[in-house]
Amino acid sequence: MPPTQQSVSDLAYELWLRRGREHGGDQRDWLAATADLRFFGQYELIAHAPLDQPAPGRTGRRCRFCERSAGRTTFQTPPPIWPGGHDGGLRSGEICDECQAECREPLVGPFDAFWSTLGAIERARPAPLTLAILKAVAASLVLITPEDELEFLGDTIEWVGNPDQDDDASLFTDAWCRVYLGDPPRRQPWAALARRRDDDAGGPYLVGWLGRDDLVIESPIPLCVRDQDRDTLALSPERSFVLGSFAATGRARSTLLSPAVLERA
Ligand SMILES: [Zn+2]
Repeated sequence: MPPTQQSVSDLAYELWLRRGREHGGDQRDWLAATADLRFFGQYELIAHAPLDQPAPGRTGRRCRFCERSAGRTTFQTPPPIWPGGHDGGLRSGEICDECQAECREPLVGPFDAFWSTLGAIERARPAPLTLAILKAVAASLVLITPEDELEFLGDTIEWVGNPDQDDDASLFTDAWCRVYLGDPPRRQPWAALARRRDDDAGGPYLVGWLGRDDLVIESPIPLCVRDQDRDTLALSPERSFVLGSFAATGRARSTLLSPAVLERA
């Protein structure tokens, strides 16, 4: 159901208050309120990790990727949840040394290189979105997924837990990733995950974000069993990251990317 005029008006007013009652951004507040209400009408936030704090309750000693527990594999220092070198301190104890070294570390270089091109996204296309990038993001999102959702991610976990990069590209033809360049309030790295409220609604079952500085990457978790009866992995509604007060920078925009590897296939 689309948001009502009244609910948009109430939220736009709240956004204006949060901006310190600064005049001149009425239209931006209205657009941001409409986007937020549309998104959260369809999705609910189920995990949110400000990566400047230690992860609560992440002390389990069973690997989410290979399902082995301590004794059959080793767990040294918990690895960062973020794929790149900017972990901000949030770490997961639920990935073993071997999976981290073989499945995630080879993706750090490609992810960092990709991320570094995003800051100029308002002027130039970013580096191609490859399956390695999608995998790096998905692996991070699997690490923040609440325990009771993991049963829907069997194929995803098999994919991210497989160090072989020779993936079947045909499984990812409808994958997508959205990049927001704006001015979010958080400077520290953060990660979050939302779940579709209703199976009859459009959009992927799980959608997550990795954000740092003024950039946010948004991606569905691919290969989720709750999306398998759909023809394509539809888009989720855009969030308000580049609207509202964020638009004040004048650079704010969002860009939708599809995996480049498929264009070559
Ligand atoms: Zn493992």
